[in-house]
Amino acid sequence: MHNKTLAEQSRALAAGDITSEELTRAYLDRIRDLDATYNSYITVTEELAMNQARNADTLRAEGKATPLTGIPLAQKDIFCTEGVKTSCGSKMLDNFIAPYESTVTQNFKDAGAVMLGKTNMDEFAMGSSNESSYYGIVRNPWNTEMIPGGSSGGAAACIAARLAAGATGTDTGGSIRQPASMCGITGIKPTYGRVSRWGMIAFASSLDQAGPMTRTAEDAAMMLNVMAGYDPKDSTCVNREVPDYTADLTKPLDGLRIGLPKEYFAAGLDSRVEAIIRDAVREYEKLGATVKEVSLPSSDLAVAAYYVIAPAEASSNLSRFDGVRFGYRCEDPQDLEDLYKRSRSEGFGGEVKRRILVGTYALSAGYYDAYYLKAQKIRRLIKDDFTRAFQDVDVIMGPTAPAPAFPIGDKTDDPVAMYLSDIYTIATNLAGLPGMTLPAGFVDGLPVGLQLTGNYFDESRLLNIAHRFQMATDWHAQTPAGL
Ligand code: GLN
Repeated sequence: MHNKTLAEQSRALAAGDITSEELTRAYLDRIRDLDATYNSYITVTEELAMNQARNADTLRAEGKATPLTGIPLAQKDIFCTEGVKTSCGSKMLDNFIAPYESTVTQNFKDAGAVMLGKTNMDEFAMGSSNESSYYGIVRNPWNTEMIPGGSSGGAAACIAARLAAGATGTDTGGSIRQPASMCGITGIKPTYGRVSRWGMIAFASSLDQAGPMTRTAEDAAMMLNVMAGYDPKDSTCVNREVPDYTADLTKPLDGLRIGLPKEYFAAGLDSRVEAIIRDAVREYEKLGATVKEVSLPSSDLAVAAYYVIAPAEASSNLSRFDGVRFGYRCEDPQDLEDLYKRSRSEGFGGEVKRRILVGTYALSAGYYDAYYLKAQKIRRLIKDDFTRAFQDVDVIMGPTAPAPAFPIGDKTDDPVAMYLSDIYTIATNLAGLPGMTLPAGFVDGLPVGLQLTGNYFDESRLLNIAHRFQMATDWHAQTPAGL
């Protein structure tokens, strides 16, 4: 059953071929047997999961099941989950039991889904390799010497290793798409404001957005149906009708206009990845699409602007972790100053401290105009580039990441090399657009993802475009050896 997609499992539950209790037990057993290798979970909520599974079976018997009732999911450890440790991958929150439930996880609870546990992640979602987690590195199921991508590396690895039917991720600069690409799964970052951020620990509030990470586009559509929607508790959450994301999945693609940004097929892109992306685009032509080159001239400024804006927002968001209200507190503080200093020095890891320093510097009086304001102006140019491109095309395609997964430890001493891993994903967040990745091929046995970027609130269309590809190809159906 673990090799079936979420949608297939949903149908099997509905048909009575299996119970949620059996399905949940099977996943918990797999996690116990296999996750020592991957380290994709920080917390496994076995008792809670089994209770939820039994409740789900009862609901179904009473005729009250939704498509996700009884489906075992994994939640990224960035979502507050009431009564369950919520660490955000940090020593700072190692002792934090969330007193309330995030909107996203509450939505899954209301749909009757089961939570298997909380997935590993880069500390405070800062990273592209899942090597900055306080809970240790995560290994890529396709090759355990390789990183799984980050920051939602635990989520991506657990789906690739078949340790959950679906998982949540969050994406500030690529953290759903880049790890999904590197682990050979499907992931979608919705339009900014489509999914509530309430109870999702903030990294960079104007960029953060949650989305599903799954085997297929169909599975992602089913999860997004539950995740998306207006939430008065998040003032940036958009009050706009949520379509049924599964409704248009099979719509033919005749006449679809694809744009290929010339800036994405330039120096820095692994030629083997480029060949896979070009093949995928040819497949779309066979499905009835037309292709034209577009230009996103500000692309090369995206990483630089992001690494001012994201750390600036993070430095402000993370000021709440002060050793007083919650989280880690140092031993025997001498005075208040010492309490703040040592709690933060001891509680945060290296990458988080680097971001806080950069962000505080960029926001300080003498530098605000030179860095933060400038970066905001670039952000506007990037958005304008996309607006112009979407006058001529329906979807923009390109690589999700410049290369397949790299060896563990390869970039830990070179933050800039690490940051460049998100060179194709960051602009989407700066513009607030929806972005998606789907498996499109392999280089040396490692998966490569095709990225789709859509216009605002075009999630249905992206899922449709991805689903049609998955009907015609079987890259998404590949399984790592031995799993
Ligand atoms: N890798 C990027 C960073 O380190 C993006 C992270 C994310 O999307 N959460 O900031």
